[in-house]
Amino acid sequence: MLRVNEIFKSILGESTYAGSICGIIRLSGCNLRCRYCDTQYAYDEFFPSTIEKICSQIDQYKTSVILLTGGEPLLQEESYELMKRLLKKEYTVLLETNGSQSIERVPLGVIKILDVKCPGSGESHQMHWGNLKKLLPSDEIKFVISNQADLEWATNIIHEYHLGKTAKVLFSPVYDSIDPSILADRILQKNLPVRLHLQIHKLIWGEGVRGK
Ligand code: SF4
Repeated sequence: MLRVNEIFKSILGESTYAGSICGIIRLSGCNLRCRYCDTQYAYDEFFPSTIEKICSQIDQYKTSVILLTGGEPLLQEESYELMKRLLKKEYTVLLETNGSQSIERVPLGVIKILDVKCPGSGESHQMHWGNLKKLLPSDEIKFVISNQADLEWATNIIHEYHLGKTAKVLFSPVYDSIDPSILADRILQKNLPVRLHLQIHKLIWGEGVRGK
């Protein structure tokens, strides 16, 4: 049994797939407590569900892209089997993971969207740095930036780990915390191998709307 927080259909708000119609499976539970977390309801709220039931609900949406998110999906052992099952059904499977868990066992074919937690999150010490060596060109690395100090930190990490050569890199401003133009200016000034990324579901529906 998996502990599921919610399953719904939406327009994907994040990653390079932003704007795509998507089935979203949010699993419950997270080992981090980021200062800007907008899904605190996923820490403890859940209903138990089998992989079969989850797949049958997702199939009804008739989308080709499925996002597995949380919370932190990799905390639940059965999430690996769920990803395999979704791949077998020929979905494009995206996994959002918070960077603290090893991605080594994520099935080949799943597109990993890996957070690198900046100091502004309060959780950067939890990062599993070995993950950066396990990424494929189809994967994505996301820095959620709260302030100028995060921007400096993320820029240094990009240079130190030569990011941008291994996977796509995204800079995402914390909603209502830092002006996206500051990120845009930095990317332009330093010629960073980064895509500016805005959470479009919040631009469409506003913050704090569940099931969107
Ligand atoms: S990892 Fe994601 S779900 Fe967990 S606390 Fe941070 S923002 Fe919230």
